[in-house]
Amino acid sequence: MSKLQDHIQNTLDQSHPHSDEYHQAVMEVFDDVASVYRKEPAYRRWNIAERMLEPDRIVRFRVCWDDDKGNIQVNRGWRVQFNNVLGAYKGGIRFDPSVNESVLKFLGFEQCFKNALTGLPMGGGKGGADFDPKGRSEREIMRFCQAYMQELYRHIGPNVDVPAGDINVGPREIGFLYGHYVKLTNRWEGVLTGKSPGFGGSCGRTEATGYGVVYFLKNMLKAHDQSVEGQRVLISGAGTVALYAAEKCIQEGAKVLTVSDSGGTRVFREGMTAKELASIRTLKLEKHGALADASCGTWHPGKTPWVSAKGAIALPCATQNEVDGNAMKRLIKNNLVALCEGANMPLTQEAHDQLIEANLLYGPGKAANAGGVAVSGLERSQNASLQSWSMDKVDTMLSGIMADIHDRCIAHVKRRNGIYPYSKGANIYAFKKLAEAMMAYGVK
Ligand code: GLU
Repeated sequence: MSKLQDHIQNTLDQSHPHSDEYHQAVMEVFDDVASVYRKEPAYRRWNIAERMLEPDRIVRFRVCWDDDKGNIQVNRGWRVQFNNVLGAYKGGIRFDPSVNESVLKFLGFEQCFKNALTGLPMGGGKGGADFDPKGRSEREIMRFCQAYMQELYRHIGPNVDVPAGDINVGPREIGFLYGHYVKLTNRWEGVLTGKSPGFGGSCGRTEATGYGVVYFLKNMLKAHDQSVEGQRVLISGAGTVALYAAEKCIQEGAKVLTVSDSGGTRVFREGMTAKELASIRTLKLEKHGALADASCGTWHPGKTPWVSAKGAIALPCATQNEVDGNAMKRLIKNNLVALCEGANMPLTQEAHDQLIEANLLYGPGKAANAGGVAVSGLERSQNASLQSWSMDKVDTMLSGIMADIHDRCIAHVKRRNGIYPYSKGANIYAFKKLAEAMMAYGVK
């Protein structure tokens, strides 16, 4: 470990104890930027490393709501406003029992880097609650969203902090949250993104993260004289990101072999058809966690995609740390060519190190899944100018942004054994951009 890495680890141990996910995300970045940091004395002079580790602020609040039986339920809500030197805080809201401060700090930290890579003026933030929407009625979810917004509204604004969706927060929840914001403030403004296109949302926002992952993959393969067509693709997850990544893969002529949820993996030996994808989407919309009930493909209960089929491309699109060391060993043994992250930090530290060691194509989440937040940026532009753009226009812009992100990832790195180290390149590019703005702002 270098002196810088040592210093970062000590600072994390002291200032952010019991925050494993946060330590993992930070150390990964500082492993990659250590050499750049050493070469630029101004970074040390301005104490950029330590300043970058400390979020601007974390708001934590009680969320009380009535369930359908009339019982009062109590949850914890947060908004981590991480860094706003590149623009107003921007990042999703996640409702899941796994949400805690460590998870939100890691997501907020990653978001600063991801948003920097988009080239749009957006700072980084993340929010959420430890609320479990599974098994809850629509009215319960609505009351929870309203109770969450009852506190959040005083901390956000179209030029202050612009939340969006994340796990378990989609257009329906954004509608409830936004509706309550409008009611509380009497202002109809671009304070949330991921709204329905009927009331200020952007066409293509729902598809953006999943499509963006495949656009990034295409650029990455092209830079290495390969293409998506005909490739065998393993996808994990069955949420919005996974299913739109699958849709784009099928459109591009690839074979999607798997989708999964917490119950197991559904395998399509010859590749999923567009019709099968549509039937899964309908099932998922009607019943939460219904992948086991689908009538197409074969069901592998309790199994992950990584052990259920062999593919050259892996797109983990479920959640953090879903691919562990054993899974990665299996992927590499089965001749993995490229992995792009649809989820945020889906690789454990061990899996990450193995992938780097194997010198395979690796699109890190902060680059590969930045299409979602990029189209959120486009939604803000549309709201600010009172415009509404077509799906074609947004999709063309998304594809251009993903190509630019790809190029930014390789702007500061050279090929190693014939392959660009995208993860290192993404970290260096975003770090430099953030550090330069922080130094220009002076001590704050
Ligand atoms: N939650 C998404 C992400 O991880 C989108 C955030 C946004 O659109 O602000 O990037």
